[in-house]
Amino acid sequence: MPERLFVCTPSKLGTYTDCPRRYRYSYVDRPTPPKGAPWAHNSLGASVHTALKNWYMLPTEQRLPEVLPRLLKATWVREGYRDVDQERATYQRALDWLESYVATLDPEEEPLGVERVVAAKTGVLALNGRADRIDNRVGPDGPEAVIVDYKTGRSGLSADDARGSQALALYAFAAQRIFRRPCYRVELHHLPTGVVAVHEHTAESLDRQVRRAEETALDIMAAEKAVAAGADPDEQFPVNPGSLCGWCDFRKVCPAGAQAVAKEPWTAVEHLSA
Ligand code: SF4
Repeated sequence: MPERLFVCTPSKLGTYTDCPRRYRYSYVDRPTPPKGAPWAHNSLGASVHTALKNWYMLPTEQRLPEVLPRLLKATWVREGYRDVDQERATYQRALDWLESYVATLDPEEEPLGVERVVAAKTGVLALNGRADRIDNRVGPDGPEAVIVDYKTGRSGLSADDARGSQALALYAFAAQRIFRRPCYRVELHHLPTGVVAVHEHTAESLDRQVRRAEETALDIMAAEKAVAAGADPDEQFPVNPGSLCGWCDFRKVCPAGAQAVAKEPWTAVEHLSA
């Protein structure tokens, strides 16, 4: 058993799984190495997420499509776009997505949580994280919680994405404890296409994801401990070069990232203004 619980979010664990070196740059090295410029796709994702959060903050009678331009404009993040024309075109696409999406929602329905922080402990982890939405639904055996995650990326999503998402599974694990009701269903809502990718977990599949998260945490703690004892940080947190490098905030400071083809901050939103 570890001496202390590993305090983490699903995103922190995911960063290590993707690339231990990126984890080190993000969470271990202090001061944090300089990051690249902000990404337009992150700005877009944040803007849409906040608009949806604020839509749910309104009284039910005000949750109307007409309020969406005001909500989106109020919290629109401007960083990363090539120019004002690209930003405007992307704003319009985001507004279209939101209008189509809220047309599928029942404004009278109150979720259990919106941008809700959930937390839970295991023998190894002190987990916390912010779920986009936790729905209050009635399943075959009565009330249940459903984890909803909004996606705004270019690629479509499948049930395999929902099944494989460790973050969604960890949110479900934590939500069960917090709301004291079953939480096995996880959903990815892809706003650009309206696709909802669903997976129904079981107690066993959630348990497997928690065990995997614990193994990752133990690996991280072992690497951090070794570095504290004088081991080479480059060896303990090796690079994992691949397709992620082009999108990595630390590409310029990482020896492996320097080999990757650089992406412009707006590359991932270029198709929206074409
Ligand atoms: S550039 Fe690639 S190898 Fe380097 S930290 Fe980022 S993801 Fe890892």
